[in-house]
Amino acid sequence: MNVPRTISIFGATGSVGLSTLDLIRQHRDAYRIIALTANGNAADLAKLAMEFDAEIAVVADDAAYPALRDALAGTGIAAASGEAALIAAAAMGADWTMAAIVGCAGLKPTLAAIEQGKTVALANKEALVSAGELMTEAIARSGAVLLPVDSEHNAIFQCLAGGKIEQIRKITLTASGGPFRCFSLDDMRSVTPAQAVAHPNWSMGAKISVDSATMMNKGLELIEAYHLFPVGLDKIDILVHPQSVIHSMVEYADRSTLAQLGSPDMRIPIASTLAWPDRMVTNCQPLDLAAIGSLTFEEPDIRRFPALKLARDAAAAGGSVPAILNAANEVAVAAFLDGRIGFLDIANVVSRTIEGYSPNAFHSLDMLFSIDAAARSHASAKIEDLMNAA
Ligand code: NDP
Repeated sequence: MNVPRTISIFGATGSVGLSTLDLIRQHRDAYRIIALTANGNAADLAKLAMEFDAEIAVVADDAAYPALRDALAGTGIAAASGEAALIAAAAMGADWTMAAIVGCAGLKPTLAAIEQGKTVALANKEALVSAGELMTEAIARSGAVLLPVDSEHNAIFQCLAGGKIEQIRKITLTASGGPFRCFSLDDMRSVTPAQAVAHPNWSMGAKISVDSATMMNKGLELIEAYHLFPVGLDKIDILVHPQSVIHSMVEYADRSTLAQLGSPDMRIPIASTLAWPDRMVTNCQPLDLAAIGSLTFEEPDIRRFPALKLARDAAAAGGSVPAILNAANEVAVAAFLDGRIGFLDIANVVSRTIEGYSPNAFHSLDMLFSIDAAARSHASAKIEDLMNAA
């Protein structure tokens, strides 16, 4: 019998974390769980840790520690809390780590997992957007294998099998266009958080759902692709494809285009990273193209979705600009979800933050986190201005 692969999941209680655990549930003997983590959701984390017999469960928020400790008392599963505990859990050397914390908060544990030189499945795109160079340097240094989980990047990764990066003519990231694809700018002005999180094709956490609605998600993915697949920014295009069946495409020098297709279910790209370099059986919906009937495509509209241009410009500027874009977006999305600003204000806050704050490029994690913190206060000040003006 094969030795079970050891697994740690950062962000286990979230949408990607739960999808990963669902796949593991279907192949229980093939995997052994080391660490599961959450932010404050101690009750669900404790249940998952017991179901999967984890070695340790960690909450990032210290206030959630007593609940976690009490729920796990007598189980033999260790409980811990705080940033240092998250980093220590990432350094426990699991064969395969899922990085699925939302936001830049996932950066330190993800880097700690990369430093182990094992396999890291990356869903936490904000970490790569903010610290692309630091992360790619850490991967090169440690020899870790980074497997992209985002369906688009996972599709590109699959289309690259047997291909050479220098023979790529173009990478096309597909985008569903989100729930407001057909809305006018005027209609978008008054959309609510509930409308924005109701994605037409994918079931995801609140933050990425809002990012999909503004199309900042595609902008972040553009920057993510720029770091993962070094073909140059001008060779990465975005194409709206409302059915979310083609997850991305790679065109080679000979004009042959390879695409990866599948039902819009995150368990499919996650399964490809869990079993990599093999394939695993899943119970996901098979693709029924006859039932879907037609696949359609359209150019993205930068006027209604300015986040796309903000992200492309940030990638081109490099240095600390992508980190500022990401930090401002995290703050603005949280303010929108709290009902403090309108939907169109999100891109506005990001744009004004980038315009009003231009530090030098960073060369260390400490410098990055001080730029990230300053960008967050600049963005919060812009939000205050907008609220006072309303
Ligand atoms: P969710 O909001 O559903 O889950 C986030 C997870 O991270 C939860 O486990 C949450 O814990 C934990 N968490 C939140 N804040 C912190 C923090 N400050 N410190 C430590 N842990 C924290 O997010 P998703 O699963 O939707 O997304 C996760 C990442 O994957 C994002 O970067 C997203 O962009 C990316 N992604 C998601 C996809 C999807 O389909 N959902 C698709 C592709 C990429 P708690 O439950 O306690 O709050």
